[in-house]
Amino acid sequence: MNIILLGAPGSGKGTMAQKLTSELKIPQISTGDIFRKNLKEETPLGLQIKDILASGGLVPDEITIQIVKNRLAEADCANGYILDGFPRSIAQAEALDAFQNIDCAINLDVDKETVVKRLSGRRFCPDCSGTFHISTLTHATKCPNCSGKLIIRPDDSEATVRDRLKVYEENTFPLIEYYRSRGKLVTVNGSGTVEEVYERIVQVLHR
Ligand code: AMP
Repeated sequence: MNIILLGAPGSGKGTMAQKLTSELKIPQISTGDIFRKNLKEETPLGLQIKDILASGGLVPDEITIQIVKNRLAEADCANGYILDGFPRSIAQAEALDAFQNIDCAINLDVDKETVVKRLSGRRFCPDCSGTFHISTLTHATKCPNCSGKLIIRPDDSEATVRDRLKVYEENTFPLIEYYRSRGKLVTVNGSGTVEEVYERIVQVLHR
């Protein structure tokens, strides 16, 4: 199955993708993770996108589309994949349609207040890319997956979160209509516990 997870920053795309990937045995393709890895390794791409990521803006479509195109051509995507954070613009969605057949786009619907609360308590592990909420951690800075040192993502600062939400509303929100008009959209209530939201997604996928 070729699945897209849509939703605002903080709607739970990454968390749900991590759960789905271990259940369905298909890879999670997170453009955000790919960009952060390049940043950490200071590759030419990493240096090119550094300021964009810090500001919460979007990496240019040409770069992002090519990266996804290359990644989806790898062998582990042959039986399906979960796209987390891509597409984020109509141009990206159109480009994706030109080389892939998407089965469904799951829109995680969460109100703005919840999103801000989630992002302000979010902790990230640069070693395993795990994402956690401070309220669920027994140790504030230790990754429960790999014992790496948890950090607050620089783009989770309050000002940048506000900018990212604006970028989402302008560029990514129109994708809901894009997939609805193609009969591919399913909207899932994204509030509640991780287990509750995940169960809703599983129900939708069974249908
Ligand atoms: P995320 O981890 O999905 O929140 O992505 C972190 C950052 O990476 C975003 O704020 C953007 O700067 C960049 N990014 C991730 N995915 C995309 C995309 N599909 N198009 C453009 N920029 C992206």
